[in-house]
Amino acid sequence: MSNPPQATVKTELTATPYCKNCGAPLTGAYCADCSQRADVHVPSTLELIHEALEGVTHSDSRLWMTMKYLLFVPGKLTLEFVAGRRVAYLPPFRLYLVMSVLFFLIASIWPGEAVHLTGLEAASKTAAGATPVARTPQQRCDDVHSDIFEAQIKRACERIVRDNGEAFKHDVVATAPKAMFILLPLIAFFHMLLYWFPRQRYPVHLLFFVHVHAFAFLAMSIAWLLNQIGHLSLTLDTVCGVLLASIMVYMPVYLVLAMKRVFRRGWPNTFFKSVALFVIYLFVLSITMAGTVLYAALRL
Ligand SMILES: [Zn+2]
Repeated sequence: MSNPPQATVKTELTATPYCKNCGAPLTGAYCADCSQRADVHVPSTLELIHEALEGVTHSDSRLWMTMKYLLFVPGKLTLEFVAGRRVAYLPPFRLYLVMSVLFFLIASIWPGEAVHLTGLEAASKTAAGATPVARTPQQRCDDVHSDIFEAQIKRACERIVRDNGEAFKHDVVATAPKAMFILLPLIAFFHMLLYWFPRQRYPVHLLFFVHVHAFAFLAMSIAWLLNQIGHLSLTLDTVCGVLLASIMVYMPVYLVLAMKRVFRRGWPNTFFKSVALFVIYLFVLSITMAGTVLYAALRL
């Protein structure tokens, strides 16, 4: 007694060699039009487990190859993409998104250390310390004066005083990933100006920063975790401190090595450009961060 629906599926698979996804005729193991596999049977539980383990354990799998180059061979992933060798690695934007989600997830788990709103916090603490008499959030924010958005800024101030900035921090962490979509193209544009002669196309610069930021997010995630682990014991604190310091040194070194590998200028030239990039980056980053903080405050 065979199962009728299964029999129908089998017949369809062998008799009509058309892609289940886009309907193109199939000539091999994959669709030539949309690259979906020809074999689309729903996997058994065992097959699913096998596939999951294979993805994680195989040292030459896409994930591990990508991570190895991302962490230890600065610029390599960008060069591989430009050279057209792509299947062996995770696609750049997906890699970036995964690392960005990982970082902001960790940052939102320990938000206290994710965002240092020192100015605002110090101001609210000074205000609290100077006046032992309990004042309402309304009173404590009465001194706020602004030419634009005064009402909104006052409301945000009251909200920050009321919950010690918890909602505000949360909003900043939630807005930051979106702000990166402004920062990334901007930085890539300025970087293109730095490398004007001989010119490199804009997408190469954008791709370069997609990879560099994917690395930065991964490095900062590791640093963040090390920082948390360091709190557990004194010995761990020393070990994590050394590792943290190494990461802080490695990050700028990584950028210079990546610039050298991808854009192939001499060392003095690359070094000069990296210093210029650092200054431009700080400028664009502070504008983006100010925008993010303002946006989060106005939404409170
Ligand atoms: Zn197809």
